[in-house]
Amino acid sequence: MSEHFPVSRDTFDDVMVPNYAPSAVIPVRGQGSRVWDQQNKEYIDFAGGIAVSSLGHCHPALVGALKEQSEKIWHVSNVMTNEPALRLAKKLVDTTFADKVYFANSGAESNEAALKLARRWAIDVHGSDKTQIIAFEQGFHGRTFFTVTVGGQAAYSDGFGPKPGDIDHAEYNNLESVKALISDKTCAIMVEPLQGEGGIVSPTAGFIQGLRELCNEHNALLIFDEVQTGAGRLGELYAYMDIGVTPDILTSAKGLGGGFPISAMLTTTDIAKHLKVGTHGSTYGGNPLACAVAEAVIDTINTPEILAGVKAKAQLYIDGLNAINTKYNVFSEIRGKGLLIGAVLNEKYQGKAKDFLDAAMAEGVMTLVAGASVIRFAPSLVIPDEDIIEGLARFEKAVVSLAS
Ligand SMILES: *Cc1c(COP(=O)(O)O)cnc(C)c1O
Repeated sequence: MSEHFPVSRDTFDDVMVPNYAPSAVIPVRGQGSRVWDQQNKEYIDFAGGIAVSSLGHCHPALVGALKEQSEKIWHVSNVMTNEPALRLAKKLVDTTFADKVYFANSGAESNEAALKLARRWAIDVHGSDKTQIIAFEQGFHGRTFFTVTVGGQAAYSDGFGPKPGDIDHAEYNNLESVKALISDKTCAIMVEPLQGEGGIVSPTAGFIQGLRELCNEHNALLIFDEVQTGAGRLGELYAYMDIGVTPDILTSAKGLGGGFPISAMLTTTDIAKHLKVGTHGSTYGGNPLACAVAEAVIDTINTPEILAGVKAKAQLYIDGLNAINTKYNVFSEIRGKGLLIGAVLNEKYQGKAKDFLDAAMAEGVMTLVAGASVIRFAPSLVIPDEDIIEGLARFEKAVVSLAS
């Protein structure tokens, strides 16, 4: 065993690159939707590691899958394929629009693959000038240089020199702004079927349908970034299923691994064939450990009971947050879908979401923000109702401490 010398939050400032500003709390243990820190203080987890811990902490099905695979084989590279990857791909194909799957390790990597595939497809099929990518202001697609440039916040891609080109941004929920940009030179539209990082913004009726029609008219691909909305988060296995619009390419990550790093890009045979041997790849993509865990995640989540549970638990949150708001008048709106919920701070508390997060942490409940004025909740899809009720009671104490 490696030697375990004591570490603390100060160690972070000593030895870590300063691109994050982590909380003072260092979690050391989790079970279900409860987490304990170094001082053994207990928290209820409404954050889910940013919509990742889809089955809470140390779910027995995931621990079992990981243990079992860890005693068989860990890694083979893509020089060979492996059984967990093949089983997971088969399940994803059987349950979605897709015929083909490409595995990677993070949301950004699956989006990078999607964008590269779209460009290859367009250039192969339609010619070298069909390269424009349309995405949306406030959209988020990851931090590689391509994906962060496709993302809708220039501040995240500025300062690194010349950016990947031919990327334009339209306004979310504004089809006219897309029409103003799209042409036969458009290769793809990349969109989140509900903007997560951008503030928990749902698509308006007809918006996603309208994007599908525009893509059809201009022979462009429609790419759904379901990194945050997928794997049951919104109450269907993937959000597109409820919207009733089928994309050409879909990316999934976060909740797919339930905490083990994995992502997937799903597409059709006709599009997939343009990523020929040698055009793209990843050393770890489709790693047996990750795929074994994700297979257990899909098996567990993709059942009518769990998906119906997401909707029922979402209602508990909405009712609880509305009750808090009736007493303290802090929110202008509770929005989102399934277990991706945003409580939008009203005029009086603009820019204060982080203060609420900090106060909630002090009361023993972990939350998230989505921008400066939205408190985000992305708990485990199987969080016990008692934990929702207890966590909201703690959250209410945090609200009381700020709303006076
Ligand atoms: C989190 C997120 C990403 C990036 O995922 P990483 O695993 O951090 O690379 C991409 N798209 C969406 C919609 C996300 O929420």
